[in-house]
Amino acid sequence: MSTTLVSTEPATGAHLWEGAISDVATEVERAASAWPAWAARPLANRVETLRRFANAVRAAEEELVDLIARETGKPLWDARTEVAAVINKVDISVSAYSERTGQKRLEGAMGARQAIRHKPHGVMAVLGPYNFPAHLPNGHIVPALLAGNGVVFKPSEKTPAVGAFLVDLYHKAGVPQDLIRLVIGGPDEGRALTAHPEVAGILFTGSAQTGIAINRAFADQPNKILALEMGGNNPIVVWDTPDIQSAATLVVQSAFLSAGQRCTAAKRLIVRDSLAPRLIEEVKGIADRLIVDHPHADPTPYMGPVIDNQAADGLTESFLILMSNGGRPIKHMARPVKDRPFLSPAIIDVTEMPERPDIELFGPLLQVVRVPDFDAAIAEANNTRYGLSAALIGGSPDHYDRFWANVHAGIVNWNNPTNGASSSAPFGGVGISGNHRPSAYYAADYCAYPVVSSEAEQPRATLGTGLRDANGISAPK
Ligand code: NAD
Repeated sequence: MSTTLVSTEPATGAHLWEGAISDVATEVERAASAWPAWAARPLANRVETLRRFANAVRAAEEELVDLIARETGKPLWDARTEVAAVINKVDISVSAYSERTGQKRLEGAMGARQAIRHKPHGVMAVLGPYNFPAHLPNGHIVPALLAGNGVVFKPSEKTPAVGAFLVDLYHKAGVPQDLIRLVIGGPDEGRALTAHPEVAGILFTGSAQTGIAINRAFADQPNKILALEMGGNNPIVVWDTPDIQSAATLVVQSAFLSAGQRCTAAKRLIVRDSLAPRLIEEVKGIADRLIVDHPHADPTPYMGPVIDNQAADGLTESFLILMSNGGRPIKHMARPVKDRPFLSPAIIDVTEMPERPDIELFGPLLQVVRVPDFDAAIAEANNTRYGLSAALIGGSPDHYDRFWANVHAGIVNWNNPTNGASSSAPFGGVGISGNHRPSAYYAADYCAYPVVSSEAEQPRATLGTGLRDANGISAPK
């Protein structure tokens, strides 16, 4: 078994980083030893330390942007938006902490008082995905630390360099060395974290398949926190609209931003039959012009490669499987650079396919389904076990009301893309996209638990009924 993890740049195949596989038990023990002192610090001190972290990220912004671009293959501008989200997370989490898990006093009759306060869970293990290797784990880490927890963070085995860089910035900012620990490794280390008795919770962002496996591993540990942010098979419905060009642009943005490697990416375009030819022509026209290139290339690319050759092989194979099962290609998936995982955006009409697979094809692959009426559009949008995001483009306010009320998803947009969710709002899905522990603004909720206390400064109590008097005689009724 290898004791080293190596990270290579998807766009070039160049060696980027390597590090030793971690010993999970050691890292958990270190975090376990550190969190009680951190939790005992005043909140203002924890806030101050995390603000210093945000400043440390600001100071290292260009370096982190470059590292994310190299390790994921996403263009520099895309990586830059990720780093901005990392910086903004601190202030957003401070507001969320006080709004959702702040202290409260309830005054009752006769001076009765109840206090509601929140406590941290202990050591939280954060398991990250590769597509947002800094922002998404950070979206768990900041609220977890703010609430007083210790953190053991295992970045994806495909993006360990960004994970290591992030943890280093926490330490540089003054977060105690033992409070946040980096675990380098893959599924084996993830499983070890899940099984470790000192880990009080798993904050997970990744595929539904892995999330379900962790959920199973937690079946006999109901005492542990499990927050699952998983994938999607997201629909974008295009209905009557005079502005076909904007509709097509929103479809392209939803499907191909970050090479389709966003959990909120549109995977299925559902369109009114009569509108389909014009819309598809427009979508294809824009997709044909998208620049797919190295993250640092000039002219600036719209999208880079997918994460590795294995992912690219899987996606090209999926495209062929859809084709051989009745899908009609509109735009083929090409591999423009030999041996590298660049993929051209692909579009396939699967309306005639008798059985469409309900799986997340995590890349630039858009499936089209044509439908005769709006009820059929809603039924098709819901034809999935997932439920992360959904968008309606065009249609009337009445169409949008029906769509909003009937579509199963945690994010339901109108005339906006399926992706690009704000960190200032809750973020999570239904079905197998999550387990009802939404992240982003609501991450505060799973990072602390409420403690309710009835409190008085002096003990003062009398029994008003059911007592014999001092001579042993019961009071008359
Ligand atoms: P993944 O499920 O392969 O891996 C995620 C993490 O889990 C990694 O750190 C991995 O090492 C670890 N892991 C793998 N098997 C494990 C096991 N059995 N036990 C414990 N840990 C294990 O996900 P990925 O491929 O890195 O990321 C892409 C996926 O993430 C897509 O499905 C995407 O939709 C999803 N995603 C979801 C969100 C969201 O917020 N809902 C955001 C981004 C990405």
